[in-house]
Amino acid sequence: MEATRRKSRVSYFYHDELGLAHYGPQHPMKPTRLRMTHNLVLNYGLYKRLDICTLTPATPHEMAKFHSDDYIDFLARVSPDMTEEIARSQHRYNVGEDCPVFEGLFEFCSLSAGGSLSAARRLLAGHTDIAINWSGGLHHAKKGEASGFCYINDIVLAILELLRVHRRVLYIDIDIHHGDGVEEAFFTTDRVMTCSFHKYGEYFPGSGDISDRGAGAGKHYAVNVPLRGGINDANYQAIFKPVVRAIMERYRPDAVVLQCGADSLSGDRLGCFNLSLDGHGAAVEYVKSFNVPLLLLGGGGYTIRNVARAWTHETAIAVGAQLPRDLPNNDFFANYGPTYKLDVPAAHMHDHNDAAYLDFVRTRVLEELRHIVPAAPSVTATETTPAERDPETGREQGLGDDRNDAARRRAGHIAAAAADGWTATRRADRDTCGSQPDGSDVAMIDHAAYERATEGGDPDARPAA
Ligand SMILES: [Zn+2]
Repeated sequence: MEATRRKSRVSYFYHDELGLAHYGPQHPMKPTRLRMTHNLVLNYGLYKRLDICTLTPATPHEMAKFHSDDYIDFLARVSPDMTEEIARSQHRYNVGEDCPVFEGLFEFCSLSAGGSLSAARRLLAGHTDIAINWSGGLHHAKKGEASGFCYINDIVLAILELLRVHRRVLYIDIDIHHGDGVEEAFFTTDRVMTCSFHKYGEYFPGSGDISDRGAGAGKHYAVNVPLRGGINDANYQAIFKPVVRAIMERYRPDAVVLQCGADSLSGDRLGCFNLSLDGHGAAVEYVKSFNVPLLLLGGGGYTIRNVARAWTHETAIAVGAQLPRDLPNNDFFANYGPTYKLDVPAAHMHDHNDAAYLDFVRTRVLEELRHIVPAAPSVTATETTPAERDPETGREQGLGDDRNDAARRRAGHIAAAAADGWTATRRADRDTCGSQPDGSDVAMIDHAAYERATEGGDPDARPAA
């Protein structure tokens, strides 16, 4: 292992119990991939370059910053033997086939979400430049229901935590599926910009059209890059880099959350992109190169030997190490045959993203980004007032624009909770944000103030045994 890049302090969150969860024998989501990743990270010796941190499981109270109380109650008490209750709740909470109730479900959710929250707090405390939680990134979970193998949206919870101090958080999603749960949560605020690169067209979850771009105060702050099947490394980079660069230049986020779903890799069991290990990792490398506090999360990924390869490779990118391509001996060595290499090569398959299509998407997205004025977004009453409910219909009102009902419904999901944290810490934020000599506003985090505000600072920073 040799150092090749600028050194970053990197914190890594993992819990042994995570990899023991089991969705069911036929289910494509295999939490074993987390154990495989961790084992490979250790056997490559990457632990020497990481702060390996214990994570604190998320409490129901913490989950309720985004999710509805009744949904959390349901997840906390349901067990696989409660078949009648599961059948009754199937439609209300979308549990069943894709999102089964399995033994230890709530513990799994608590650890996954707790990892992302712990990682966000460590970033905020200034103890690390990059924080990693490969068990997070569960981007489809909604406020009151499960979706696409995701139950608790650790990403939304982590971003809300970051918003307690930061003014602007950028979310980038390179999973092959649209990051719908995160987009929906922040659809009407400019304090979070979401940007998803995904397969679009007759593909789960069906959302993420190029014309979906946010609503109300969040108009222009949701970016969707719809792609077709078979995209290769070169074409992916040709759209990823200019879009991310334009966002970084205009939005100037205080922190970036990158969902590294590995189902965009070539040969994924559920995916249809053609990214190699290096192509997928190049996206991580590029985001890292902006040197903004970075939270790296997992996500999808269903050819699990390749998931472990990718996330190990991306852990190495985070610490600036180049790994030998021959895999070290590890507990899952037999799974990596016949090559026993780190590589995930691209396949010989047609890329349906021709030059004209990519040019159209890139031009349209960059055009849209011109609406982003490089300045601090306003924090208005629209964002800081909890959604009011219409007494007759019970629906949230008054937060969105008049675009459509869906946008209005989305409006209250998160703004209220985000504002909650903002109100608590905005004084510290105001006191510690300043202008740079070049006139640009840059958030200067007073980490000590954050630690005081969170009482006891960074409880998750204890090194694991
Ligand atoms: Zn996915």
